[in-house]
Amino acid sequence: MVTIDRNACNRCGDAKEKRCERICPGDLITQDEGGWPVVRPREDCWACTACVKECPVAAISLRLPFQIEQGAGVSLKASVKGDKTSWTITDHRGKEEKFTLRAVRKIVS
Ligand code: SF4
Ligand code: SF4
Repeated sequence: MVTIDRNACNRCGDAKEKRCERICPGDLITQDEGGWPVVRPREDCWACTACVKECPVAAISLRLPFQIEQGAGVSLKASVKGDKTSWTITDHRGKEEKFTLRAVRKIVS
């Protein structure tokens, strides 16, 4: 399940279609009356992390699935630069751990 931090989100500069809205494969992200992105219905999110990686200001965080979550408040955030995605995981005590992965892209013809 994802959470969008309105203090960090800039609504993609008031673009008509937000980046997170465009990339969600399940069309779960829409806009409320004020143009803020919202995830509806939240329980349909399957935690693919596409929106987390797409947000240019790291406003979207993912609450990890119960299989790997150790307690309340555990979250995952991403920041993408070029072909690298830097992940920040925060545990239930607020301790952060960062790791960077290189994106592997396959061209399908
Ligand atoms: S991609 Fe990020 S900045 Fe843009 S609308 Fe979505 S949450 Fe806000
Ligand atoms: S994590 Fe994937 S399925 Fe869930 S809202 Fe984001 S893009 Fe959509």
